[in-house]
Amino acid sequence: MQKQLYCNFCNEIIDGKAVKAGDKYWHESHFTCSVCSITLKDSKVFTKDGRLYCDEDYRIKFVPRCSTCSGFIIKKVIKAMNQSFHPEHFYCYKCQKLFSEENSFLEYHDRAYCKECFVEVACQKCSGCYRPIVDKAIKANDNFWHASCLRCVKCSTTFEGQKAYYNIDENPVCGSCLGAFL
Ligand SMILES: [Zn+2]
Ligand SMILES: [Zn+2]
Ligand SMILES: [Zn+2]
Ligand SMILES: [Zn+2]
Ligand SMILES: [Zn+2]
Ligand SMILES: [Zn+2]
Repeated sequence: MQKQLYCNFCNEIIDGKAVKAGDKYWHESHFTCSVCSITLKDSKVFTKDGRLYCDEDYRIKFVPRCSTCSGFIIKKVIKAMNQSFHPEHFYCYKCQKLFSEENSFLEYHDRAYCKECFVEVACQKCSGCYRPIVDKAIKANDNFWHASCLRCVKCSTTFEGQKAYYNIDENPVCGSCLGAFL
């Protein structure tokens, strides 16, 4: 006596033709995509947890998409910042240099930057030379300065090494020149 086959979709006995996928069976009329219901008799079938999917719905549901190009990632996927990337599309947001073992990324506002660009976008900019301040910044008049860029407006001495500076009409002035402004 032949073994009874049950349809994985409706759980009824299959009298007529059964379609097999993996180790399960379906009525031919129930062999459809569990998302869009098109028949999968003559097309590529994907199964996951006992459900059937057409090519397209399987991709949409289970294949990660690249945050850069929005394409599906079939092979190697790079996961970073809760996003997925094609390895060839995981590059610096600013200069587009590819990341690798040697060129690791730094995150700033959900975007990945190489070290050089991270300094550009994330560090304080000096009010004197407009370049990023990587080491210690001096705050003066609500602006930030390199220690070597904040200078007395009169004698151009710097205020490195905790030298006192005075704020005269928004201009930095050193102790020795202070008298000239008072
Ligand atoms: Zn059925
Ligand atoms: Zn479908
Ligand atoms: Zn991509
Ligand atoms: Zn960069
Ligand atoms: Zn500077
Ligand atoms: Zn001075």
